[in-house]
Amino acid sequence: MSKAIVFDLDGTLVDSLPDIVASFKHSFAAMNLPVPSSKEVQSEIGKPLEEMYSRFAPSSKVMALCNEYRRHYPQHFTDSSSPFPGVLSLLKTLRQRGYKTAVATTKRSEMAQKFVRALGLDVFLDHVQGTDDFPHKPAPDVILRALEALDSEGLWMVGDTIADIKAGQAAGLKTYAVTWGTHDAKELETAKPDALRPNLDALLNQL
Ligand SMILES: [Mg+2]
Repeated sequence: MSKAIVFDLDGTLVDSLPDIVASFKHSFAAMNLPVPSSKEVQSEIGKPLEEMYSRFAPSSKVMALCNEYRRHYPQHFTDSSSPFPGVLSLLKTLRQRGYKTAVATTKRSEMAQKFVRALGLDVFLDHVQGTDDFPHKPAPDVILRALEALDSEGLWMVGDTIADIKAGQAAGLKTYAVTWGTHDAKELETAKPDALRPNLDALLNQL
């Protein structure tokens, strides 16, 4: 059975948080609602959109805010987003060494696949698994579905949030936390990842 490395997408493989924050805030402005600060928004990234909006808006407005985001974001998701340094060569090397590579994200599958294609990352990934109508991370479901699609055994879950690490642990994988995304080292430490690094350079040495 092949072995797989599973990655979170936003804040892990892709430096995408500013575009997410901008689209998230745009929805409030478009609906004449008070706009939260970028810092407040950034700390919520990685959660489902509905949950993120519920944190800042009355529940009666959440669906309309989500709809506006889903309209606006794909038109702007590569405005400033690009893969983090070294990501392309890392994915390439993993493939050359016979590992399968997958994304397991809380974005919906359709949006995640569109985004990955727009960045040219699709050619380096064997599967892109979004979260569609099943429990999101920290539940292990999205990781388990990715592994099922690959027909592979999971080795490492790589992510930038506490939820990624907990999901990886729940799925029985080793966990690698990277600090260039949503949560800082101090926060990530509380989830006790097997590795905690400022970038992905040390991943290959773990295999
Ligand atoms: Mg993330």
